[in-house]
This record gives sequence, structure tokens and C-alpha cells, in this order.
Amino acid sequence: MRNPVQLGLLLLALTAIGVFGYNVYLRETTPPQRAYTEFLAELRQGTIAKVHFRGQALTGEDSASRPFGTFVPDVGALVPLLLEKEVAITGEAEVTSGVADGLKTLLPFLLILGGWLIFSKKPSQGNFGAGRGSRFTPVKSERITFADVAGITEAKEELQEIVEFLKNPAKHSRLGGRIPKGVLLQGAPGTGKTLLAKAIAGEASVAFFSMGGSDFVEIFAGVGASRVRELFAEAKKSAPCLIFIDEIDAIGGRRSGGQNSGASDEREQTLNALLVEMDGFDSEKTIIMIAATNRPDILDPALLRPGRFDRQITISLPDVKGRLKILEVHAKKIIAIPEIDLAAIARSIPGFSGAEIANLVNEAALTAAKRNKAAVEMTDFEEAKDKIVMGLERKSIVVSEKDRRLTAYHEAGHAIVGLLLEETDPLHKITIIPRGRAMGLTQQVALDERHTYSREYLLNRIAILMGGRAAETLVFNRLTTGASNDILQATEIAARLVCEWGMSPAIGPIAYIRGSEGFLGESGKVKPHSEMIARRIDHEIKHLIGGCYDQAADVLKKHNRFLHKFAEALLLNETMDAEEVDIVYRRYLKERDIERLLTENGGKNDSTNTHEQTEVFS
Ligand code: ADP
Ligand code: ZN
Repeated sequence: MRNPVQLGLLLLALTAIGVFGYNVYLRETTPPQRAYTEFLAELRQGTIAKVHFRGQALTGEDSASRPFGTFVPDVGALVPLLLEKEVAITGEAEVTSGVADGLKTLLPFLLILGGWLIFSKKPSQGNFGAGRGSRFTPVKSERITFADVAGITEAKEELQEIVEFLKNPAKHSRLGGRIPKGVLLQGAPGTGKTLLAKAIAGEASVAFFSMGGSDFVEIFAGVGASRVRELFAEAKKSAPCLIFIDEIDAIGGRRSGGQNSGASDEREQTLNALLVEMDGFDSEKTIIMIAATNRPDILDPALLRPGRFDRQITISLPDVKGRLKILEVHAKKIIAIPEIDLAAIARSIPGFSGAEIANLVNEAALTAAKRNKAAVEMTDFEEAKDKIVMGLERKSIVVSEKDRRLTAYHEAGHAIVGLLLEETDPLHKITIIPRGRAMGLTQQVALDERHTYSREYLLNRIAILMGGRAAETLVFNRLTTGASNDILQATEIAARLVCEWGMSPAIGPIAYIRGSEGFLGESGKVKPHSEMIARRIDHEIKHLIGGCYDQAADVLKKHNRFLHKFAEALLLNETMDAEEVDIVYRRYLKERDIERLLTENGGKNDSTNTHEQTEVFS
């Protein structure tokens, strides 16, 4: 009887039979009721033989041995009369009847509740033993370390510090510094957040407590909050230790404030309990909380305040190199032929998360075993991949090849415009791994923090933002929605340039409110303007952005070859840092020089230039 639905149905049926039986029993055993006055009259006539009190409920027999029942409004007044008439009196305390009656009325509710409990309960996959008693004991499984977590080097480096804190709390708080309490890991499902948290505990050799956010949210009021307190009480006993809360958004969603349904009320109580506990534990008890979520945007801001989950680490889906490393970790666990080309596999599964890669390796091993092979071969991986991708496509997680190409050109467009225009921030990293709603990302770093921006710099920023759309248009001649955020940002910069910073000659150095909101907030300080000026402002913004777009498109047209090379490299590597971009750039420059040399030479008298030519080729 594994299936909870079957179990639930059986339980329901049994309870229904029970209730029915109980009702029949009650009908059989409840004697005919008489009015109290009727009973009194009979008593006075002396026709009552015996009575039995159950609180104010009275049953008895008359002298003809017929049973009856009645309700006694005033037991105290009745007893002397009974004694006088020499009626045999027995009785029991009311409590029993209360419980029985209560049970009788409560039964249907209990039934419904029980059924609901069983049906609504997801099959448990928590890290805790099923027994209630073992709910908050630290998980003792085989020790997981950072070596088991592959491909997310940056996150591991950031968390190394937490390991140090846990290992030696006294050392770090010696000078009064406050040890961080909470780290929020954000990232898509299966990117290894849970694994990472376990690895931290493993590296530091401390106890690991784990709880899913949805486990706290129960039907019974107050249970979630009391579980939080219970969890912390247990954790304090084992400090230093680590508490992991998966899916924190289940309890940590924004508090509504105001009209609440029962469920959100319960959730808020739980969240409040969590906040109180987090603020409460003292510095001697080193407890580090790690929470995981895929929806950082819906978290209650109170959770992210200093002293709570004030460190946030994003874990993205792995790129090719990351996928290869994860494959290597998991391939060690299976028996495979030595010729397996893990790098080729890594390249063929863009968009796979760590969990999906682990699943892939496992599936491949199962496939090979099914075929009675001695070791896993490349074809088994192929088959396993097809199976998983097919499953994923239904969930539309996998990025299509077409979208990848589009994203690669889009991001390359941003990067190239940034690289080739003067007065821009240097490129930091560029990726076509989707993150959140963005399909890709091009990051620049400001060398030193700027406080003032030149007009040139701002216009170039707009050009860089336009580079994505310009590249898409140039190569695919299609407009996509991929640039919507770029356009938003560009418009914002252009509008401030015109209205706030007075950098547009046509408008002049006057601050205007654009639209209804006004950029400067205090409308009193900003010049109100006429319809005509408003139109001029809009025209100017459009003009600025148009100019920047043309500039970006020109750069990309002129360096068309670079764009293709860059996009190709991106498709292959998925993530590139400044150094790798530089390699592609230098290669492009070199090839361009060679080409130029060849074509120029073709037009010239070649007898004089043979020497130069050989030098280039050597
Ligand atoms: P999340 O908590 O982010 O949903 P998990 O940590 O539960 O993901 O990952 C599930 C499984 O996927 C892990 O137990 C592990 O086998 C595999 N996995 C995920 N990421 C990695 C990684 N970076 N390195 C190795 N294995 C990984
Ligand atoms: Zn873009």
C-alpha cells in the first residue's frame, strides 16, 4: 500500500463504516426520550424503579422495566425527591459523556480533516526521518565536501569564508566582529544549492539541519512557528552548526499587511518566528543559516536586512566547462569505457543543470545495464540524453539552438560595441547562459567608481545597449523581444541626459520633468513645461537613441567578421571572460591585417613587396 491516494481512500471507507456503525449503535442504545415534566409526574406517582445520571442526561427504567431517557435541568433539586421515592441512583461524571458526545459531533470533521491531510500531503522527500521525534536531529549521511560540488567555483570561493567561520568561530569574533548569520543562495532548481550547503557543513565538520520551507506551512495554526522555534532550539544544542532552509519563498514571501486569509496568516506567523529566532541567537552560538530560493524577487525585504540573509550568492546554470566538471564528478561513480568523450557530451547539453547532468549519467548507466553491457558507452549517453531532453522540452527549459544563436549574436553585439568605442567600461564577462528572465548577459566593470559621467560616456552606453538589437537585425534581419530591457535602460539614460543633465544642445541646460513622474522627485525645483517643450524633449530623446543605434550598427557592420567570430566563440564556450574575448579580438585583427595586406598587394606592383609578404606568412 505505497500509494497515498489508495491509503487515503481505504481510510475514508473504514471511517465511514465506523461512523455508520456508531450511529446505529446509538439509535439502538438510546432509550425513548420523555419530557422532564412527564418524568417528574411518574416519579411522584412512584412508578420509577431506577435512574442513571450522566451529567444532566438521565436514563432509567420504570417499574414495568421500560427504559427511558430525559434531560434534568436541575440535578440538585431532583436528588432529594429521588431519595424520598427510594429510587436506585447510579451515575457517572459528565466528562465521559462530554468526550463521547464531542467525538460524535467532531467525527465528520475529523474524517474530512484526515482525508484532506492524506490527500494534500506530498510524498515526503525531506532530509529528515519520517518519525516525529527525529524531525530536528542533524542529518548524518556520508560527508559531502566541496570536491563533490563541481563547476561553481565562484560561489565556492565566496562560501569558503563561511566554512572558516564555522570551523573557528572564536578566532573571527575575537575582536568584536559580527559573524554573518545568513546566506541566501539563489538559482534555478538543480543547480546544486542543497549540495553546496551540505558541502559547507561537511567541510567545516559541523551538524547540518535541513528543512524545506513548505514543511513549515501546515494546516494547523501555529505549527509552523512552533517548528521554527523547535528547529532553533535543537540547533542551539549542536552549535556551531548550519541550518539549511530550502524553498524559503514558501514562508518568506512578502507579507501582505491587511486582509489575510488563514493560510497567509499562518505563513506570516512562521516568517515572524523565523525573524525573531534569527535576531535572537547570541553571538556565542555560531549558527549559520543558508536559505535557497529560485524566486529572490518575491522574498520579504525583512529577510534580506543586515544581520539576516544579508549575503546573496547567485548560482547560475553551468557553462560548458562547468558541465564537463560536473560530468567528471558523476562519471566517477559509474563504470564506463575509457573512450567516453565527456567534453563532447558537455557541449551537447546546453542548459542542463547539475541535477540533470547527474540524472543523465545515472540514466546512461541504467541504459547500459539494461543492454547487459560490461561498461557504459557513448551510445548509452546519447540515448539517455534524448530521453531527458524529451522530458525537458515539455517543461520548455531547454533553450533551442535558434535562441542560443540569437542570444550569442545579441550579446556579442553589446560586447563589440563596448570594446571598439572609446570611453567605455572594460568588459568583464559575457555569457549566453540564461539567468532569471535574461537570455544572456554582458557585464562591464567600472575601473574606478565614477561619480560624474561625460556626455561621450553616456552616449556610448546607449550605443552599447543598442548593440544587441543592432547585431540581431544585421545578422538575422528580425526584431525580437530580447532587447526590451536594453531599450528600457537606454531610454532612461537618454531621458536623463536631456531633462536632468542638460546635455542636449537643442534643449539646453534646463531641468525638466519628463512625463508625469518627474526625475527629480521634488517637482517644485523642476521647471514645468509646455506641450511644445514636451514634444521637443521626446523628439530629442528619440534623436539621441537613433543616433546611438546607427553608431552601434556602423561598428558592427564594419567589423562584421569579428561579430561572427565572437558569436561562434560564445556558442562554443557559453561564457567568456575579458581575456578570452581579447584572444578572439587579436585573432580577428591579425586576420584582417593579413587580408588587407593581401588585397593591397594585389593592386600593387608585386615585385617590390614580395619580401614583406613572406614575412607576414612566416
Ligand atoms: P538544488 O538544491 O539547487 O535544487 P541540488 O543541490 O538538490 O539542487 O542538486 C541535486 C543533485 O544534482 C545533487 O545531489 C547532485 O548530484 C547534482 N548536482 C547539482 N549541482 C551539482 C554540481 N555543481 N556538482 C555536482 N553535482 C551537482
Ligand atoms: Zn541585451
